[in-house]
Amino acid sequence: MRLIFLGPPGAGKGTQAKRLTDKYSIPQLSTGDMLRAAVSDGSEIGKRAKEVMDAGGLVSDDIVNQIVSERIEQPDCAKGFILDGYPRTVPQAKALADNMRQKNLVLDAVIELRVDEEALVRRIESRVAETVAAGGTVRSDDNPESFRKRLSEYREKTAPLSQYYEQQGELVLLDGMADVDAVTAAIEAVLEKDGDTGASAARI
Ligand code: AMP
Repeated sequence: MRLIFLGPPGAGKGTQAKRLTDKYSIPQLSTGDMLRAAVSDGSEIGKRAKEVMDAGGLVSDDIVNQIVSERIEQPDCAKGFILDGYPRTVPQAKALADNMRQKNLVLDAVIELRVDEEALVRRIESRVAETVAAGGTVRSDDNPESFRKRLSEYREKTAPLSQYYEQQGELVLLDGMADVDAVTAAIEAVLEKDGDTGASAARI
């Protein structure tokens, strides 16, 4: 099973992807996590990415395309993977399509979580509060200024992907404002091609 999750920062992509990794035993590939790991390793890529990430901008397509291309060749991706936070631009989507074609891999679904932007800001605030309460480290880009920049980058560069995948007949829109369990149920209904059941309540 090879999936892409689309949706603005805070839409719940990571939460839903984690749930699916357990159910389908396939890894969640978060380019954000991979880039943060590169930053903490102090690798060359990390050094190049840190500043732009902290400011809420997008890392160059070449860097992320390369990271994902190498990652999906790893043995744990043989049964599939869930892309979370990639692609984020139309050129990335085209590079992914080329890459998958070369590797003889097929995409099963592109799932977009639609959310209300005002609610997103509140979600980010509570994510920060929960992380602090749990004694964790708050992401350096989880502050209102970077978050606003991430949202505007999303609107400008990532939102056009909806149309791109819709034209290819691959896009499924779900209501990301629904209860977390309802969103999971709707995703599972889509993946099991069981869209007519009550579980698809969150489908738009
Ligand atoms: P995320 O964890 O998905 O919110 O990503 C955190 C940050 O990593 C983003 O704000 C970008 O700076 C960078 N990033 C993650 N994925 C990508 C991508 N596909 N293309 C460009 N930059 C990315």
